[in-house]
Amino acid sequence: MKTQNPFKNFAAFIGKDTIAENESKKLIVVVRILILSIICYFIMNIFLCNLALEIGGALMYIIFVIFFVGIFALSYYCRSFTVICIFTIGMIIWIYLTIHYMGWNIGVQHFLMVLLVLSFFSVYKQHLAKIIFAILLCAFRLFLFFMYSSGSSNLHLSPTAENGLQILNTITIFWCISVIVFVFSNDTRELESKLVDYNNKLLLQANTDTLTGLYNRRKAMVYMENFIKNDLGESGFSLCICDIDFFKKVNDNYGHDVGDEVLVKIAEIFRQEKKSGTFAARWGGEEFLLVFPSCNGDDAYIQLERIRRSIKKLEFNANDTTFGVTMTYGLTEYDYHNGLTATLKEADEKLYIGKENGRDRIVF
Ligand code: GH3
Ligand code: MG
Ligand code: MG
Repeated sequence: MKTQNPFKNFAAFIGKDTIAENESKKLIVVVRILILSIICYFIMNIFLCNLALEIGGALMYIIFVIFFVGIFALSYYCRSFTVICIFTIGMIIWIYLTIHYMGWNIGVQHFLMVLLVLSFFSVYKQHLAKIIFAILLCAFRLFLFFMYSSGSSNLHLSPTAENGLQILNTITIFWCISVIVFVFSNDTRELESKLVDYNNKLLLQANTDTLTGLYNRRKAMVYMENFIKNDLGESGFSLCICDIDFFKKVNDNYGHDVGDEVLVKIAEIFRQEKKSGTFAARWGGEEFLLVFPSCNGDDAYIQLERIRRSIKKLEFNANDTTFGVTMTYGLTEYDYHNGLTATLKEADEKLYIGKENGRDRIVF
């Protein structure tokens, strides 16, 4: 026979979803925990009042226990808003009667804070209503203060009972506020970290070329501009614009998909250069941009020559044949005097010269 875990059953009972599909389950669960906590608190009060031989107080609490059990039951049949309203009204009546009969000193007025926090953390969007409610609660507390803070109570509690109630009230109020704040601040944290992840994902997408996975032209510009801004002419960099030779023929002879495959494999070679600090981006259709930070043209040339050979060695299979591709490279050092646009133009012009002079070469 299957043994049932009573804690799990209880948690499932408390965690039952709200009847309205468009309402937060978390809110109704928090409200149920609050109602149950208040019921437990009332029951403990009954014992404390009995201890102090205050039967009137005990009777009042018995009535409130029955009322709050009713509200708890309602949470399974009514909308959260209705339950919160009835809970709030019940609490306000109880606070008033308790202060009226037992006096200001036992500190039940602090339960108004629970209502305030609950109203602000509940998901309903009526901000004006929340502000008005806060003002009314504040006014109510002031009213209670002027009416009862200096007067004596109807029920004369013994100092032991009064101290006991003070302790019980403090613990219950801290518990109730902690439950509300813990649950809803967790919510905010989760949402915030989700947003941060989502923003990072969007940023990555905005900076990445979908086919090759390399950075795109937009990111390349930002990278170079930032480098120039932070470097302040100290170490400089070299940059290269390179272009696949006769790429149109690859598409024409083997199809666009094979052309894409060529782009991806070449991009893979550029990506490996990241290890040596080289920045690579897809500059346009079959053009790429490489940035060699803190490298003069001669150093960059050596690296580029290695890249050129690696790309030339690549083999592609299509239509039962194997073919390779070459690229032409326009390399230049960043010119702090003329700026980025002029440097890019110079690299482009060198690329064009390379194309004119037979391709598969680096022009520096
Ligand atoms: P050159 O050596 O002078 O650079 O000759 P080329 O054929 O490479 O140059 P051209 O500018 O005539 O052709 C470039 C081709 O690149 C045309 C275009 O269809 C192709 N292309 C651009 N982007 C892509 C892409 O994302 N995928 C594929 N498969 N082809 C692309
Ligand atoms: Mg080309
Ligand atoms: Mg081109």
